[in-house]
Parts: sequence; structure tokens; C-alpha cells
Amino acid sequence: MSLVVVGASLAGLRAVESARRTGYRGRIVLVGAEEHLPYDRPPLSKAFLDADGPRRVEPFHAETVLRAELGVELMLGAPAESLDTDAREVTVAGTPVRYDALVIATGATARTLPGARTLRTAEDAVAVRAALDAGARTVVIGAGFIGSEVASAARKRGLPVTIVEASAVPLARAVGEPAGAELAALHHAAGTELRLATEVTGVTEDGVHLAGGEVLPADLVVAGIGAVPATGWLEGSGLTLHERDRGVVCDATLAAGPPGVYAAGDVAHVPNPLFDGLELRLEHWTNAAEQGAAAARHALDPRSARPLEAVPYFWSDWYGRRIQFVGTPHADEVVATGGVTLYRRGDRIAGALTVDRPREIMKYRRRIAGRAPWAEALVFAGAA
Ligand code: FAD
Repeated sequence: MSLVVVGASLAGLRAVESARRTGYRGRIVLVGAEEHLPYDRPPLSKAFLDADGPRRVEPFHAETVLRAELGVELMLGAPAESLDTDAREVTVAGTPVRYDALVIATGATARTLPGARTLRTAEDAVAVRAALDAGARTVVIGAGFIGSEVASAARKRGLPVTIVEASAVPLARAVGEPAGAELAALHHAAGTELRLATEVTGVTEDGVHLAGGEVLPADLVVAGIGAVPATGWLEGSGLTLHERDRGVVCDATLAAGPPGVYAAGDVAHVPNPLFDGLELRLEHWTNAAEQGAAAARHALDPRSARPLEAVPYFWSDWYGRRIQFVGTPHADEVVATGGVTLYRRGDRIAGALTVDRPREIMKYRRRIAGRAPWAEALVFAGAA
């Protein structure tokens, strides 16, 4: 028996760990495009950017732990090139690697903009931090979570920073307009200039060029304009890739179709039974960890595979504030109750967002998991 995990980051690592935890003793091969051992991404846009932050990106586990304790064969710095589901082979650096069970955990890569940096990898974080160390005037393109964290890191050092955002309300798609407006206020309060409804036409050495002709001078330009699933290597494999973003389309057990093939994490489109099969491709840490672990269990023992019903969760840290979201923003109604923003789908609570209320958000998470009625959630929030 051979388990091959493609993608050596969070979902891939959790896959390997859970395979061993279930007692699987067979071969495990972990294939990673990056040279690095698996490492954690959230700190890259948070503590790592601080002037007194850690100087190195540390891996989750030392190489000896992976090789000796977990018994993993590592193929790092070696992207998988193709998948043949009939032969049950992944080709890595020209070499076929046979699998009985396969976990696809290749995540996503940052959408790029010529002239601008991105922040996805350890190398990206080192470059952004070096620019901040040098006192960069910073322009962030895109007021999403990662861009906002970069702005926060710059302000923490007292550096001038401008965020340019094409939408009129930041994060409207991710968390809805009321919460997006609330989060925009955090930027204003911290002295970050926020240019909303503003299009960027290009980035040159002079700075960031805006529609209308204005140029914002910048030493550091970071594009936080989203990420795309890393599935180029799966084109032509016969797997169903999502028509919009080419992520791997799975069922609720993470099965991607061909025998033994499962996907997990940022790369995977998965219907969630909790929201009546709403199909989600999440770019959240907890989702990648949970799906990675489940995908390996299911790939090794497909008869035990059960639909995953997790409540999605993510957090983000800006200006010393903790933003937390549970559930889904795909809602029929969004209500800001003064403290918590609630999301209704049908007659149930489907989501909640808080700022600096870590205990409260978990109570909403339990309500969403328990399919609590909307009216009850409003009463709990003191809004009815
Ligand atoms: P990834 O972490 O994207 O890893 C995929 C791996 O597969 C990569 O190492 C890639 O090189 C590799 N790969 C790609 N193609 C191939 C190939 N063909 N062959 C082999 N390997 C390949 N989430 C939160 O909930 N809260 C946060 O505060 C938060 N902060 C974040 C900050 C940053 C800067 C970033 C980038 C992400 C943040 N996230 C956060 C999101 C979270 O880190 C991701 O959801 C998580 O890393 C996804 O894990 P993954 O293993 O699915 O994919």
C-alpha cells in the first residue's frame, strides 16, 4: 500500500499525520514544490513582519521528525507534473510515483500583478519584511485579509501606507457590506489611507498608477488580490476542475472521482451538508487542517468515508484587533447587531463575525453546527 500526498504544506502535513495516527504502516511519499519542509503561513503576514518578529520561518516539524518518526519519504523542491488515474501514478520531476491512495493538497498560488510583490511564501515574507525594515512607503493593492495585515504591519512600525481597493466596500464578498464597512473603520483609525472604488492601471518604478492618472509613490507595493488553485498539473488528468477557478471538484467526503483520489485544503471545492450542499472552496487554515486529516483517512479506507460537516472558521489580526468569522457569508440577510454581525440563510443562522470577542464567536459556531433557528440567534445576540 502506498499513500502519496502532493503538496507539502498544512493540508499535506495533516494528511500524513492523520494517516499514521490511524495506524497506517505503509509507504508515505510527500511531494512538495517548495524547497522547504512544511511551514505555517498565517504568521508570514503577522508576527514575521514585525521589527522584533522571528528572523526565520520555522517548519512545523524538523526533517528527522518527518522522516524517522512519521516515516515519510520527502520529495521537496519537486512539483508534481501530471496525474494518470488509470495507471495510478503521479509524475514528479520526470519520475512516476505509484499510489494506491492519493491526497491532492497543492493549495493555491497568489494572483500576481506585474511590478507588485505578493505574500504567500516564506521567500515573499522575507522580501516584504526587508522592505519594511528599510522604512518603505507602502502601497497595498486589494483590501482583503492579507493586504490588510500587511498594512497593519507597516503602521505598527509607523510607516505610511495606502490601500487601494477596487470595490466601494472592502471585503464585501468575503463578509458582506455591513461588516466590510466596520472593518474599513479599523484602517481609518490606525492611520492607513484607504482608497476605495479605485482602479489600479499599473505599477512602475514611479509607483502605483491609478485610473485618472494619479501616481502613488511607493518603495513597496504588495498585491493582495486573491489566490488561484494550483492545479495546472492536473489539466488533462480527467479530474473535474471547477469551471471558474479550476479548483478540484470533490464530493462531501473529499473524493475527487477516480478510485483512491481525494483533495483537501485551499485547492478543493467541497459541498457542505451543513448549508444544504453549498459548494465552498475555502482559503482558511482550520479548513485545510481538518480536510487534510480527513482526506488521508478516506483515501486509505474509502468505506469509512463520511461527508464532512465542519463549520468554516477563520481569523485575521489587524492593528492588535482579532477578527473572527464562523460559518458562511453566502446569506439571504446580514444584520449588524452592535458587537456581532450575523448572517441568515433561510430560517437559520449561517454565519457570525466578531472583532475581539473570541469566546462569543465560539458560541455562534456551536449554534451554526446545531442548525439553530435565526430567531434564537437574534435573541442570543440581544437583537430581538
Ligand atoms: P498551501 O498552504 O497553499 O500549500 C500548498 C503547497 O503545495 C505549497 O507548498 C505549494 O508549493 C505546493 N504545491 C503547489 N503545486 C504543487 C505541485 N504541482 N506539486 C507539489 N507541490 C505543489 N487562514 C486563516 O484562517 N487565518 C489567517 O490568519 C491566515 N493568514 C494567512 C496569511 C498568509 C500570508 C497566507 C498566505 C495565508 C493565510 N491563511 C490564513 C490561509 C491558510 O494559510 C491557508 O488556508 C493554508 O495554508 C492552506 O493550506 P494548504 O495546504 O491547503 O495549501
